[in-house]
Amino acid sequence: MRFSGFRVIKEALTGHKGWQPLWRNPDPKPAYDYVIVGGGGHGLATAYYLANTFRKARIAVLEKGWLGSGNIGRNTTIIRSNYGLPGNQPFYEFSMKLWEGLEQEFNFNAMVSQRGILNLIHTDAQRDAYRRRGNAMLFSGADAELLDRDRVRDMCPWLNFDNARFPIKGGLMQRRAGTARHDGVAWGYARGADRAGVDLIQNCEVTGFRIEEGRIRGVETSRGYIAAAKVGVAVAGSTSRVMEKAGLRLPIESHVLQAFVSEGLKPLIPGVITFGAGHFYVSQSDKGGLVFGGDIDGYNSYAQRGNMPVIEDVIEGGMALMPMIGRARLLRVWGGIMDMSMDGSPIIDRTPVEGLYLNAGWCYGGFKATPASGYSFAHLLATDTPHETARHFRLDRFARGHVIDEKGMGAQPNLH
Ligand SMILES: Cc1cc2nc3c(=O)[nH]c(=O)nc-3n(C[C@H](O)[C@H](O)[C@H](O)COP(=O)(O)OP(=O)(O)OC[C@H]3O[C@@H](n4cnc5c(N)ncnc54)[C@H](O)[C@@H]3O)c2cc1C
Repeated sequence: MRFSGFRVIKEALTGHKGWQPLWRNPDPKPAYDYVIVGGGGHGLATAYYLANTFRKARIAVLEKGWLGSGNIGRNTTIIRSNYGLPGNQPFYEFSMKLWEGLEQEFNFNAMVSQRGILNLIHTDAQRDAYRRRGNAMLFSGADAELLDRDRVRDMCPWLNFDNARFPIKGGLMQRRAGTARHDGVAWGYARGADRAGVDLIQNCEVTGFRIEEGRIRGVETSRGYIAAAKVGVAVAGSTSRVMEKAGLRLPIESHVLQAFVSEGLKPLIPGVITFGAGHFYVSQSDKGGLVFGGDIDGYNSYAQRGNMPVIEDVIEGGMALMPMIGRARLLRVWGGIMDMSMDGSPIIDRTPVEGLYLNAGWCYGGFKATPASGYSFAHLLATDTPHETARHFRLDRFARGHVIDEKGMGAQPNLH
């Protein structure tokens, strides 16, 4: 079944009886060539590209809950490629290009909306840093524009330009950035993978790995043993716990990040805006709710919920930037578990166990990476070589001292 405007009209006129489930619900088979652990955005995208681009077969995705129950359905939906370091920027720009053709490619409405992202500048030193970052973006083929204060004021006259501590002096704009509907992305990849023959197996928790003579043989699951020639793990916030079962200790900590949605308001925010003097970012959903977030909770946790002090901190950031946000009522708050790496950048690599591969360390920026992460992980699984844009995301970079520390924070996962 293909989706199209014609199809929507036809179904509307015939009582919506022709729609079919987006994917099958198969039982696990005894063996696969490729098993992907984790049915979040990255796991589903990996299976999609493995089957559709790299033409591999006998693939299963094992998800302990339901598809999209993790961070892919919990994030604030921002997509962008405004990174500065050569290890990161080409990868995120590759992702941005995949986003731009994604809905046509997998024939599903993921509501990709390129309304732009504006990073606000509050000091002269920050302007220098953003100019440098903008130039790095241009070098990788991305778009970037440095805006002065008047141009920012034309776009968002309601921002607090004259805040005594954090006056707004301009902004770095990426117009091709924006938002996408997070669970729509998971459903689109799931449907596309299923159509290519991938078994998407829900309620199937991986509880252990069978490893013989340093080589993966299969996975133990809550639905029995499944043999596999290659296993790719993409479980985001659960990475340390899952990889521990393979005997691996990783440079990753798990932290909680919360998201916030206000009541519906008239259209106000043109795209995504980030506060440059504190941690606060905001966009507006198509239903009118202000969608915003800030810092992680700051302590290690596997709980998918956060605490009040961070709620207060995030709202204070919002008030400093746009005081009228204090008049809006908060409707919903929730949390997700972030796989924070030591340098704030991801890992897409083999592991010391032959046939076991790792996709992790997305911190709170992995949604925008979903297409490129899935593509690169599929490339690695299919060819045993890293995709050129992901070649710096090696597991041993911490031992080698080749970290990709975008924020310059050092080995402090809670600060990336
Ligand atoms: C509040 C919040 C806001 C965010 N905002 C943004 C944003 O604006 N932009 C951005 O780029 N990123 C953002 N992120 C980060 C982004 O959502 C994540 O980095 C990304 O979704 C992680 O990859 P994933 O989708 O594969 O993870 P998940 O969806 O978490 O997928 C992992 C899956 O693995 C499953 N799993 C775990 N253990 C097992 C097991 N033993 N067996 C089988 N399955 C298992 C889980 O159930 C889960 O479904 C945000 C995250 C949060 C929580």
